[in-house]
Amino acid sequence: MDWLEASEEHIRQERQKARDLRRSQWWKNRIASGICHYCGVRVEPRELTLDHIVPLVRGGRSTKGNCVAACKECNSRKQHLLPIEWEDYLDKLRQE
Ligand SMILES: [Zn+2]
Repeated sequence: MDWLEASEEHIRQERQKARDLRRSQWWKNRIASGICHYCGVRVEPRELTLDHIVPLVRGGRSTKGNCVAACKECNSRKQHLLPIEWEDYLDKLRQE
C-alpha cells in the first residue's frame, strides 16, 4: 500500500484497534516511563499520545511495532509537517 491512501475501512478498523491498544497493559507500561519515543522528553504519562509511526492513512497498522508514545509537541508536529519535514526534524533530534 505504501504511499497510497488507505481505504476508509482500513482506517476505521485500525482506529478501533488503536483504541483497544490504548486500554491494554502493554500501553500502560509503555507510557509509565513518561518518555516520548521521538524527542526523549519526559512528561506526565497522561500527556503522551499514541502515535502511528506509519500513519493509518498510508496503510500503517495498529500493531505494537507501529505504535509509539509521543509527546503532544511531537504529535502535532508530525500531523502538520510534510513527511520530508518530519524526517528533517527527527534527523535534527538525533544530532543533538
Ligand atoms: Zn516528543
